[in-house]
Amino acid sequence: MEPFTHNEILQQILKLSKESGRVENFSQTFSELEDDDKRVSFALDLLLEYKLCSLELSNPDDRYKKSASECVNLRISGNNAFRQKDDIKALLFYTQSIAKSPHPCANVGIENYQLVKDLENFNNDVNTELALALANRSAVLFSLGKYDHCMKDINLVLEMNYPSTLLYKLHERKGKCLLFQGELKVAACSFKNALDCLALATSLSDQKKQLLEEEMTILMGQSLEAVPEKTSEHLVESQNEASILPKISFGPNETIPCASDSIDIHSSKDMGRCVVATRDINIGDVLAVEEPFASVLLPQFYYTHCYNCYLRCCTLLPCHYCSMVMYCSESCRKASWEKNHCVDCTLLPYLHKQDSNTIEMLAVRIIIMASRDYKSPAEFYRQVKSWKAGDSARESTFDENGQYISQDYKNIYNIVTNTEKRSVADLFKRAVTAARILQCFENKSNFFTSFSSNELLPSDFKLFIGGLLLRHLQNLPCNAHEVSEALRCESDGDVLKCVEIGAAAYATMSLVNHSCEPNVVRHSYRDTVVLRAIRLIKKGEQVLDNYGYHYALHEKEERQSHLKDQYYFICDCEACHDDWPTYFNLNSDKPTYKCQICGFSLPAQLVGEDVICEHCKCSNNIKEILTLLNESSKDYDQHLISVLSGSHDNAVVQQMIEHLEKLDQYIKRPWQEYNNCQEAIKQCYMKLGNYYESKLGV
Ligand SMILES: [Zn+2]
Ligand SMILES: [Zn+2]
Ligand SMILES: [Zn+2]
Ligand SMILES: [Zn+2]
Repeated sequence: MEPFTHNEILQQILKLSKESGRVENFSQTFSELEDDDKRVSFALDLLLEYKLCSLELSNPDDRYKKSASECVNLRISGNNAFRQKDDIKALLFYTQSIAKSPHPCANVGIENYQLVKDLENFNNDVNTELALALANRSAVLFSLGKYDHCMKDINLVLEMNYPSTLLYKLHERKGKCLLFQGELKVAACSFKNALDCLALATSLSDQKKQLLEEEMTILMGQSLEAVPEKTSEHLVESQNEASILPKISFGPNETIPCASDSIDIHSSKDMGRCVVATRDINIGDVLAVEEPFASVLLPQFYYTHCYNCYLRCCTLLPCHYCSMVMYCSESCRKASWEKNHCVDCTLLPYLHKQDSNTIEMLAVRIIIMASRDYKSPAEFYRQVKSWKAGDSARESTFDENGQYISQDYKNIYNIVTNTEKRSVADLFKRAVTAARILQCFENKSNFFTSFSSNELLPSDFKLFIGGLLLRHLQNLPCNAHEVSEALRCESDGDVLKCVEIGAAAYATMSLVNHSCEPNVVRHSYRDTVVLRAIRLIKKGEQVLDNYGYHYALHEKEERQSHLKDQYYFICDCEACHDDWPTYFNLNSDKPTYKCQICGFSLPAQLVGEDVICEHCKCSNNIKEILTLLNESSKDYDQHLISVLSGSHDNAVVQQMIEHLEKLDQYIKRPWQEYNNCQEAIKQCYMKLGNYYESKLGV
């Protein structure tokens, strides 16, 4: 096997340069290169010299192509699973079969790499394969009780080239769906259609036909008389309409439109940029609702989620050209094609074969999106070259209108790269990867030929793109965020599970610094991120997120070493500074109270009504504080149980928030009850975003 993955290629380069005794020479030359374009150029030269440029895929990778025969085989596997009553497996097989189905109705006008040519070879009958797979999937969806989804598939099939001998089945199934949903009149119509189509079912014996006829006549009669059943009993899955985004608290910020007026971006030469509260912020306040500049769905979700909008969906439709990605709707298929898939449709197989990771996939997406923001490649080139990289001064952060815009590529370009902190080996590895991806762009996509402008490409435009790729391979590892989804599945212990389904680049989120005890929490609504306060934040304090290492879950040493390796800083948050214990070692029997004047700890021994603070010598009425906290705690236990068992009631959430605010005000952290209450509130918010409940996990 020839080396193909990024790592195999890198190892090969290292091996060959060692054999020729040139490692030190290379290392020296490479470390002296002053920009990313030159680093990629260096890597490209090496690939060329060592003849490592082949991008030909071997046979197994035909799995990315459409194939009528595989479409049939997968449908047969689906039929077998369905017969064995394994609905979940059958559903997946049918969806894969749908992904494989060649689509003769594809828009032939689209000028894409090799695709038009391939389309000419499509056989007109193949549309039937898609229809058959969709029809069979509708049977599984019916069996799963997903009547809306079932009808969605059936309606598609009815517009296709589906064998007329089988049509009666579809109409009957649709009628039953409608019957269950209480749509009686329409159901009767479907049964009428089913009866009519029975005449076309030439392969059925007369006896069988007669039986079916009787059955459908009964159903039709039922639907005309029946009392509607309660539809909720048949619903297996409920999904939040994650498109309902929360309102930004205090109204949107004039200079940072995705953020609340309660925060601002501060920048300083030595500390870089950060996000700061410009007024007191309460728990639950929405501090930002930000769309990503670009985002990618993780490959393991290609057959369960929409490639465009991240909706978990059991009626996915295929891309017209590849068998890799799928969509929840025609509009998502179209939007995705126009936005990025017209370029990455042909790229994806190669990127995956190269074993490109999430960061690399996201870098590719950013380049595709960015290149489309400018009216010509020359303009793109000119603009980017005019930015002073890594400059954190206020005037370079905000655009000519004084704004910081999430969709402005400059803000993604300008995220810190930590280039100077990287080792030569690290940088070289990334340069080779960028060079390899650039080769894919050049040879396996229409990226460089798709620009509508007739203007000539700048002579070093390709290296410029390579340099941008390398730049993002450096700034994304520290700044990309996950797109997540919460699942509550009955067959899986009925606990709320949080799953990472994608990655995204957010201009504003990337400016929020880390704390092991964060004061905000992020949730995904499709690929939009919602940032909420999860602690009281005082005016002037920094807004602090968690980069995946929380004091309650990770020991200080572990946190510090990971943060240093991955993010190049030493954390000095309060939890690190005072070496707080992890969750299970947290104090839970006797709280330390805060002085209400200066915030320092009051003495552990509380005597009498008034306690004198040893720090500021002021008196605190401890009896009043205790009464207040007792009052607040009364309902808290009850609320906690109801939240953890999955119920969601806005009034309860509000009371939990008020309780947490009291704890925040009177008790020193860390304090276990504080964590419990905070986690419960986070769970409630999680359910407002990408959240699914199901009995079976589909
Ligand atoms: Zn979608
Ligand atoms: Zn595609
Ligand atoms: Zn820390
Ligand atoms: Zn005090």
